[in-house]
Amino acid sequence: MSTSVTRQTFDEVMVPNYQPADIIPVRGQGSRWWDQQGREYVDFAGGIAVTVLGHAHPAMIEALDAQAHKLWHLSNVMTNEPALKLARRLTELTFAERVFFCNSGAEANEAAFKLVRRWGNTRYGAHKNTIISFFNAFHGRTLFTVCVGGQAKYTQGFEPLPGGIRHLPYNDVAALEAAMNDTVCAIVVEPIQGEGGLIPASPEFLRAARALCDKHQALLVFDEVQTGNGRTGSLYAYQQCGVTPDVLTTAKGLGGGFPIGAMLTTADVAKALPFGTHGSTYGGNPLACAVAGAVLDEITKPELQRNVVARAQQLRDGLDQLGRRYGLFGTPRGQGLLVGAPVSEAWKGRAKEIVNAALAEGVWLLVAGPDVLRFAPALNITEADVAEGLARLERAVQKLAAVPAAVNA
Ligand code: PLP
Repeated sequence: MSTSVTRQTFDEVMVPNYQPADIIPVRGQGSRWWDQQGREYVDFAGGIAVTVLGHAHPAMIEALDAQAHKLWHLSNVMTNEPALKLARRLTELTFAERVFFCNSGAEANEAAFKLVRRWGNTRYGAHKNTIISFFNAFHGRTLFTVCVGGQAKYTQGFEPLPGGIRHLPYNDVAALEAAMNDTVCAIVVEPIQGEGGLIPASPEFLRAARALCDKHQALLVFDEVQTGNGRTGSLYAYQQCGVTPDVLTTAKGLGGGFPIGAMLTTADVAKALPFGTHGSTYGGNPLACAVAGAVLDEITKPELQRNVVARAQQLRDGLDQLGRRYGLFGTPRGQGLLVGAPVSEAWKGRAKEIVNAALAEGVWLLVAGPDVLRFAPALNITEADVAEGLARLERAVQKLAAVPAAVNA
């Protein structure tokens, strides 16, 4: 048996639900990483909005190493110090008074959706079970979360599906007003639709959702799995929009690359999940919580938030210039270091081609749907790394712009 592994090994031994790039990264430092051949890349993707402190951050390594020498795992039959410290810190920094830990964004949302259902059932009766969510939303890949998500392609073939979920157009206050009634137990919304194309919710829409939840005794759930943990310029995006949810889900950047998710809520709402109603073997794992504690310490430093604002401006200005110069994509949108650049009419459906060309030039970016380029770099990315990533992207764009669309298609 060979001990070396290549991209071909993936096709031989892995379930084909992913289609990873041809290269295999082996090492990272800051906002750069290197593949098996020693080729270096600028990281504008941040592991899909995860590696908020870049790769191999010393504070994370130290926290992981220290905890690794103390205690790895006990399960929730015992609580542990890193989990308690992290939960206390999250409650100090947000509206929340209670925290449930899990291992991913989907699990945080699964917990939130189970919570709102149980809250409706136990407080108001079995009729209060409708979850309102929005087309193009993304909340994860468990069966419940793909169903609350608003993208049919993720539920097709998995029928029969859980019911009691109603999808509405995003940012449509009138549709929300018309749909709202006393059977609704929750409205679930991303402050910025991430996977759905980097579409920010309008302040009026979020305010209307809050008011309608109050009027109809429903809970407002913010999915901040992608927008959270400093990415938009505040710890959570809700802290900038003047609307406070009843339940907030977070993951991705919380662990900076170590798997952890959390559902945050108030003490009153948390009563709907009493002993034995929900759980996770690994949720609140000491290693994960120790790393997340170190991440939280770093991302709440004012200098890091200042870097988010400065680098976001640099990135957006650079993208704006590239967009104007070569015509492949238009004005960037988003908030903080969650930036989307919609492709131009001629490039509709072909964002992935631009991402592939960029990777070939040594810069990793993402798509958000077929028509939007997505940038979610580390929050501590340097000015030099942003400049270098933009220069590499320009080389890719130059090459693509030189090839007639018909040939490229
Ligand atoms: N919610 C949002 C808004 C997301 O962007 C994602 C992942 O992209 C998820 C939930 C699912 O998170 P995970 O992949 O960690 O389960």
